[in-house]
Amino acid sequence: MKPISEMSKEDIADVKMIVLDVDGVLVQRGTKIQQVGNTTTLETKVIERKEIGQIKELHQKGFLVNISSGRGLYMLQEMFREILPFVSLTYENGSSTWYKGKIYQHINSFKYLQNIFPKLKKVENEKIKGFEPKEFIITIHCTEQIKEIEEIVAKDKKLYTVWNGEAYDIGVKGRQTKALGLRKVMKIFKLNKENVMAMGDNYNDTELLNESGLPVSADQSRAEGKFYIPLEGEFLPADSLMQKVLSLVG
Ligand SMILES: [Mg+2]
Repeated sequence: MKPISEMSKEDIADVKMIVLDVDGVLVQRGTKIQQVGNTTTLETKVIERKEIGQIKELHQKGFLVNISSGRGLYMLQEMFREILPFVSLTYENGSSTWYKGKIYQHINSFKYLQNIFPKLKKVENEKIKGFEPKEFIITIHCTEQIKEIEEIVAKDKKLYTVWNGEAYDIGVKGRQTKALGLRKVMKIFKLNKENVMAMGDNYNDTELLNESGLPVSADQSRAEGKFYIPLEGEFLPADSLMQKVLSLVG
């Protein structure tokens, strides 16, 4: 992996779309969630003005910008409200994509997750902070890893759990990943692998990064890329990347 500072004009010559993860890339990691009885409190993070401006500028320079997150659509729409005309939103680890008000569903996970959900709901553990509202995957926020959750999911060979340091994502093994989302998005926009630069920071980004022609890691310890951005940098990783790309295209 090379540092982003070594990225050249030739490296991005074929890039038409930039795919950005959200948590740990466009905003700091960490989700504030609390669930008491039937009341769920979930903080909406705000995308900085500077990054909003950078995404607008990339759009003006002719780049497509795709946001690929494990979060739900309602949350991404809120976060990117001001620049919705300029981005496509791929949500819940590649399950579906929103573009200009149209929804492209990439997987039907209903029958896979239907039976596991009540089992997970029954787990009683004080480390569980809450279930994040989702449509196609299951996300359970916990203060630390919980063996019981992993064991319940492991019994179903068709499902995976990914622990990202603050939550478990549960979905359909080998299919319901950010790579599925990216493949479908490439079809929508008629792009090839080499037209796509993708940036992610976490374990659920592995497939996404492998699927793109120019993967950029925002955390070398969790995700592999051709380039990387130091974790403890002065700017948020997406900020550094967009600065770099904009400087290269002039
Ligand atoms: Mg992330």
